[in-house]
Amino acid sequence: MPIYEYRCLECGEDFEDLIRNKADEEALECPSCHSKNLLKQMSAFGVQGAVERPIMAGSGGCGGCSSSSCSTCHR
Ligand SMILES: [Zn+2]
Repeated sequence: MPIYEYRCLECGEDFEDLIRNKADEEALECPSCHSKNLLKQMSAFGVQGAVERPIMAGSGGCGGCSSSSCSTCHR
């Protein structure tokens, strides 16, 4: 399922939401301040669906590294 992460550009709130269709995305607003000034970010779930690469549970790391980008542990 396409779960996207968003960052509110008004108050800096980070949140994620399930987007099922275009209307869902257009109706999206910040849960904190109800602004629609949002920055769409790539979520771990979205990456997992788009790229065939096993991703361990966590915040985007591979499970073998302490960073969240895996930039220090690729082989
Ligand atoms: Zn906000």
